[in-house]
Formats: sequence, structure tokens, C-alpha cells
Amino acid sequence: MNVFLYIMIFIAGTVFGSFFSLAVYRLPRREDITHVRSHCTSCNHKLELIDLIPVFSYIFLRGRCRYCKEKIRSRYILLEIFSGLVFLLIAFALKINYSSTIYEFINLFLIYLFVVMLFIIGGIDKEQKIIHQGTLLYGFIVSIVYVIFHAVRGEDFLDNIIGGILISIIMLTVNALLKNILKENELPVGFGDILYIAVIGFFFGFGLQVLSIIIALFMVALVMILKKQKEAPFGFYLSISSAIVIIGISYLEPISEVINSSVFELLLA
Ligand SMILES: [Zn+2]
Repeated sequence: MNVFLYIMIFIAGTVFGSFFSLAVYRLPRREDITHVRSHCTSCNHKLELIDLIPVFSYIFLRGRCRYCKEKIRSRYILLEIFSGLVFLLIAFALKINYSSTIYEFINLFLIYLFVVMLFIIGGIDKEQKIIHQGTLLYGFIVSIVYVIFHAVRGEDFLDNIIGGILISIIMLTVNALLKNILKENELPVGFGDILYIAVIGFFFGFGLQVLSIIIALFMVALVMILKKQKEAPFGFYLSISSAIVIIGISYLEPISEVINSSVFELLLA
């Protein structure tokens, strides 16, 4: 019976996936994401429900618009399948099954709401090179709910506070110093990136935040070397690394505990 649960989770992921394409396209253009109906990007025909079912519509319509027969870009269905898989992997990582408690399901749901922010901020940063502030605010609210939810159950949240504040203060200080030294307007790490790191730190806690920053920096370095680029959208890679951290949580949690406790010792010393 677990198979049925996993199919439902995968479908939920694909529904979010089709919402991500829409949000990444519309949010930076200040377009409505909930009330305005989707339309074909080549013939502008309003899309009906039958055209909008994730994955299924694409297969059923054989990858073409029902009205103008123009090819639908395959990136839409790929993103839907990809986000379905990410949702599924997270459920596996948290060992969700039919006998999971209501607490575990709420926890999973809150993590999915956080992953929505990772996808949208990552997508907009990749396309537009900006950290979308409205989505960041949404992610911050989700993080507050998530931290309170765990705190109510008696879990410690000091590492969340440290993750949300400490790294941001350090980065803001380094940025201010660099600005004076380099006398450049373009800083290596933008203000939006710092806010994004703060929200991720508040959600994850300090240890996992450090791990996701390290993974993101590693990917940025790799991309810049391999593609011979001078810069890379840090927010996009931070989204990917954060998703990796959630999926690999059972392996990364012990490392994060070590980082957390050494920082506590350092602060108390
Ligand atoms: Zn069309």
C-alpha cells in the first residue's frame, strides 16, 4: 500500500512542478500567479484544464499545443517529472510510509512548502539573476512555522537562531569591508544572496546551513571552471545544495551536529 502513497506524493510533486514554471516566469514580471489563466506562449489561446494536467497532458497532446499544434518546450515536462522525483526522494529520506505519525506528515508538508521556495528562488535567480524578495518572505514565514512546530515539541532551536543571524552578520561585515577595499559597486555576494542564506540558516539550523553553503560554493566553482564563466547565479546553486541537504539528511545530520556543538563551545568560551 505504500506504493499508492508514493504515487500520490509523486503526482503532488508534478503539480507543484507545473506551478514552478509559471511562478518563475510570472513573479519577476509582477504578473498574477493565481487568477490569470495560463495561455499558450505561441498562439495565446487560453488553456483548458485538460491542457494543464502535469505530465499527462504533455503525453496525451503528444507534446503539441491543442490549438496551434506548436511544439511545447520539453523543459516543462522535465521540470514536472524532476520536481515529482524530488518530492519522492524527500519522502524516502524522511522514511515516510503508511504508519508514519501525523507529526511526521506535517513535518514533511512543511518541508515541501520550503522546497517550493527553493525551486522558485533558484529558477528566478537562474533566469533573471535576482533573488525574488516576495518568495524569500514566503520562505521566511514557512521557516518560522517550521521552527515553532519543532520548538513546541521540545526541540532546541538555538542553532536555528544562530544560522539565521550569525552567518548574515559575518557576511554583511565582510561585504562592507570588501566594498571599502575593492571600491566596486558589484559585490561578490549580493544582499539578496545574504538574505537567502539567512532564511536557509533559520530553517536548517547552523550546521546544515554551513554544509549547504559549502556544497553550493563547490558547485559554483566547478561550473565557473568547466564552463569558463566569470560568475554563476549563487542563489540557484544554493537551492540545489539545500535540496541535496534535505535528501541526504540522514547522512549529513551527524556532521551538522558536530559543527553545531563546536560553534556552541566557541560562543560559550
Ligand atoms: Zn498554441
